[in-house]
Amino acid sequence: MTDRLYYTDSYLREFAAHVVERSADARTVYLDRTAFYPASGGQPCDTGTIAGVPVLDVVDAEDRIAHHLARPLDSDPVECAIDWSRRFDHMQQHTGQHLLSAVFEERFGLHTVSFHLGAESSTIDLEGGAMEPGTVLEAERRANEIVFENRPVAVAFEHAGEAQGLRKPTDREGTLRIVSIDGLDRSACGGTHVRATGEVGPVLLRKLEKVRQTVRVEFLCGGRAVRRARADYEALSKTAQLFSAQFEELPAMVAAQLETAHANDKARRKLELDLAAYQGRELYLATEPGANGVRRVTRRAANGSLEELRAIAQSFTAQPKAVFIATLADPPSVLLAASADAGMDAGKALKAALAEAGGRGGGNARIAQGSVAEAGALERVLEKI
Ligand SMILES: [Zn+2]
Repeated sequence: MTDRLYYTDSYLREFAAHVVERSADARTVYLDRTAFYPASGGQPCDTGTIAGVPVLDVVDAEDRIAHHLARPLDSDPVECAIDWSRRFDHMQQHTGQHLLSAVFEERFGLHTVSFHLGAESSTIDLEGGAMEPGTVLEAERRANEIVFENRPVAVAFEHAGEAQGLRKPTDREGTLRIVSIDGLDRSACGGTHVRATGEVGPVLLRKLEKVRQTVRVEFLCGGRAVRRARADYEALSKTAQLFSAQFEELPAMVAAQLETAHANDKARRKLELDLAAYQGRELYLATEPGANGVRRVTRRAANGSLEELRAIAQSFTAQPKAVFIATLADPPSVLLAASADAGMDAGKALKAALAEAGGRGGGNARIAQGSVAEAGALERVLEKI
């Protein structure tokens, strides 16, 4: 059985221990005592070193703890050190979670059903579905108030049958490890916690997301909240500089810019159509009719989209006795348009030509488009048309 030093002292960063067992490859070791926290209860494991060898993973194996190492380890006894900045960050987030869960419970009767401590941010899932507007603001305000009060956070061991007033009932038996925030919360928990709420630092609530029957609340505590606020400030500063505006003016300015952009887009699309109509008519006037009196134009483009050519094709074939054909090399595709009196059904003609070249497509009697597998087949389609 491994003596879990973090149970009674979550501030222990360095310790000496004996190796009581190691795996055949000597890359997994069991110690008689450890301060390394194994991933459990929503909190990720600690990292650090054992006799200078990096610890990659720490796993709870019933009443023992397995340390997975980067290299084989054969020394004994060993000097161990946990990565303190990682651990302290986890302590801030985990105590912050107890604090927030207790506040949501106390103020709004919302029960926490799960907790996840992520690499960037953490979440709790609250039972009860919808959340009133203002709930988040009030929960955040109250949580920070308790941080400022710097209430003691204590760990005690009590018998399961005698432990009273737990936030969440537990079906565990025997001795319970109870983490309490003075005057606010008592929870059965094996995690590592700060010794007073002041060490949690600022508590920042972020995104809300509905997940099945629960609301998932994203939160950041301590150093993470400060880093996030800094990143938000930098992003807002850059945006404000672009708009030569104050932060407070940004939402209205961005909305106004978007509206202008949409209006410009609409105007540009109309101008493109107008221009295509002129180009189609101009092209028609510049094209000599063939022996059958039909004016026929073939355009070969390397790339782009058929949509751009469609407006010219339609304008060209809005004139009498006109056929317009266009091909694109990339993606290999073809467009065919014919005026009503050109003596050609565009849809049928293109379909027949494509069928021979192994392509696909179709349309109506006046305009049709299709595609072929490779650009080399385009000339065959043109020939057939
Ligand atoms: Zn906990």
